[in-house]
Amino acid sequence: MSHIKRIAVFTSGGDAPGMNAAIRAVVRTATYHDLHIYGIIRGYQGMYEGNFQRLETNNVGNILHRGGTILKTARCEVFRTPEGRKVAYENLQANDIDACVAIGGDGTFTGAQIFSKEFDIPFIGIPGTIDNDIYGTDYTIGFDTAVNTAIEAVDRIRDTADSHNRLFFVEVMGRHAGFIALNTGISSGAAAVMIPETEIKIDDLIKQLKKGAKRKKLFSLVIVAEGNQNGGASDLAKLVKEKFDYYDSKVAIIGHLQRGGAPSGMDRVLASRMGFHAVEGLLDGKNNVAVGVVNNKIKFTPFKDAISKTKTPNKDLIRMSEILAQ
Ligand code: ATP
Repeated sequence: MSHIKRIAVFTSGGDAPGMNAAIRAVVRTATYHDLHIYGIIRGYQGMYEGNFQRLETNNVGNILHRGGTILKTARCEVFRTPEGRKVAYENLQANDIDACVAIGGDGTFTGAQIFSKEFDIPFIGIPGTIDNDIYGTDYTIGFDTAVNTAIEAVDRIRDTADSHNRLFFVEVMGRHAGFIALNTGISSGAAAVMIPETEIKIDDLIKQLKKGAKRKKLFSLVIVAEGNQNGGASDLAKLVKEKFDYYDSKVAIIGHLQRGGAPSGMDRVLASRMGFHAVEGLLDGKNNVAVGVVNNKIKFTPFKDAISKTKTPNKDLIRMSEILAQ
C-alpha cells in the first residue's frame, strides 16, 4: 500500500499542445485510485506563491482537445535558489502534498531533481515540449502537433510559390534540436534540412540547390531549425544569395504558431498514456524519474539521465531525407 494520498500536478517551462490531455489523465487516474489531486497554477512560481487549486473529474472535462495548459506555465527564477525551493516545500507541506507530477522540459526536470534531493517529496516527470529533445522517450508531448502545424504552413507557402521561380527558407523551432525541422523537411519534400546536429557547409547547400535548378525546378524549399549552425533562415538566405541568385529567395519564420492549436491524435494518446502511468508509477514507489514511451512501451528514466543524456535525430532519417531531396 502506498502512503501517497495527495498529489499535485503542474506544467512548467514552455507550453506544448497535449499538456491538457496529460493533466486530465493525471486527475482521472488519481481519482480512480481515490487520491486527492491539486493543480499548481504557473508551475514552480505557483508552488513558491502557494497557488494551489483542488482538481476533480469535472474540472478536467472538455480540455483534452485544447492547446496550451489550463494550469498555466511560467519560468521561475526564485525556484533556482535554495531559499525559494524551501518556501515551495513549505507550501507543499501546508497542503499535505505527498507527491508531485511535473509536466515540462529538461529545465523543469532539473528543478524537480534538485528539489527531490533536498526534500522528501517524490517527483515524477512527464516530458512536455515541442522540441522532442528529451532522452528516455521516443516522442515528447507536443512534438507531433508542432510538426503537423509546420507542415501545414509549408504546404500553404508551396501553393503560392509554385508558380514562381522561388527559393523559400522556412524557419521552424528548435534552438538545440533538429527533430521538428527534420520531420517537417521530410514531409514537405524540402531540398535541404539545416539542423543544429549536422554541419552542412553553404557551398554544399548551394550544390544541392543547383541540382534542382538544373532540372528546372520552379520552387525549392530549405527547412531551417532556428539553432542551425550557419544561423537562422534570414542569415542563410543572405549567405546563399551572395553566391547563387538563380531563385528569388524568400524567408518565412513560422514562430509561435507551432506552439498553439489543438493537439494531434498522436499527442492526445501519448499525453494520456504518460499521465496515466505517471500516477500509477508514483503509487508503485517511483521517484525522481521521467515517464517515457520507447518502442511503444512505457519506460521510466532517472531525471539525471533524462537531463544529461542527449537524444539525437535518427541518422537513417537524415540520410534518407538527403537522398529523397535530390
Ligand atoms: P522548454 O523545453 O519548453 O524550455 P523547460 O522545462 O526546459 O521547458 P525552463 O525554463 O528551462 O523550461 O525550466 C522551467 C523552470 O524549471 C525554470 O523556470 C525554473 O523554475 C526551473 N529550473 C530550471 N533549471 C533549474 C535549476 N537548475 N534549478 C532549479 N530550478 C530550475
